[in-house]
Amino acid sequence: MSARDEALLAEVAALLADEAHRGHPLHQALERLYRHHLTQGERLERMIAIADGFQQGAQEDLYATRQQLERQQRRQRKLSRIADRFQDLLVERNQVLEDASGLDPLTGLANRRRLDEQLMALVARAERHGRPLCLAMMDIDHFKAINDRFGHAAGDRALVALAETLTESLRADDLCGRWGGEEFLLVLPEMRLDQAEPLLARLGERLRRLDLALDVTGHPSSVTASIGVAEHRVGETYHDTLERADQALLVAKREGRDRTRRAS
Ligand code: GH3
Ligand code: MG
Ligand code: MG
Repeated sequence: MSARDEALLAEVAALLADEAHRGHPLHQALERLYRHHLTQGERLERMIAIADGFQQGAQEDLYATRQQLERQQRRQRKLSRIADRFQDLLVERNQVLEDASGLDPLTGLANRRRLDEQLMALVARAERHGRPLCLAMMDIDHFKAINDRFGHAAGDRALVALAETLTESLRADDLCGRWGGEEFLLVLPEMRLDQAEPLLARLGERLRRLDLALDVTGHPSSVTASIGVAEHRVGETYHDTLERADQALLVAKREGRDRTRRAS
């Protein structure tokens, strides 16, 4: 209440209290008005107190909600860190299991670890018996474009179909494995370069003709492969032979892909 209002009220109270005005015709009306004003004032005070209480309560609620939200966010961040660690652990475990099984989980072919073990034994046996052996490194051409065009799951299906065709095409004693990604290693015992080359050319032809059935419209889809082949030389390690096969593969890629090149 302003000072002026308070002064006016004090003036009215003094007038009402003054004995001299007791019989005045306006005295009763002014007194009622005065009391009514006081009651209204008290009521207003109470309403303001209630409104203040509400506001205070609302602020406290808001604060509590914000605290709760922050706690939940912290908990969520912690949970997602745990989930990430768990996921990493699973990937690691899967890798260990895959290595231990020696098989590539997608294609069922020998994985790199199994190939390494077998290669050592096969090369040693070939050397011991003075028998020939060829290693062929095959890489699918432009495979990234298959994933880009049909999706990664379709790419996976293509790899499985290619692996099946490879297995079907090889002789019982040949070994075929997934060296990594879209690269396959073929180990061909009892074969000289002159025999391996036409065999691999036929294999390339068969892969080229294979319909991978990736296109939902039913349009045939296919890939080609580049191959580098090397014959093991007595005295060299299988790593050296592989290295030469890899170099020949690079030549096949450079010369336009979809072909087999022999190592020098
Ligand atoms: P290039 O003719 O030079 O070999 O071309 P490229 O596209 O085949 O070679 P690049 O090395 O650029 O790409 C290999 C692709 O193979 C990319 C990668 O995503 C794909 N790939 C590797 N492993 C897998 C797999 O397990 N599944 C699928 N869907 N794709 C794979
Ligand atoms: Mg590759
Ligand atoms: Mg490739």
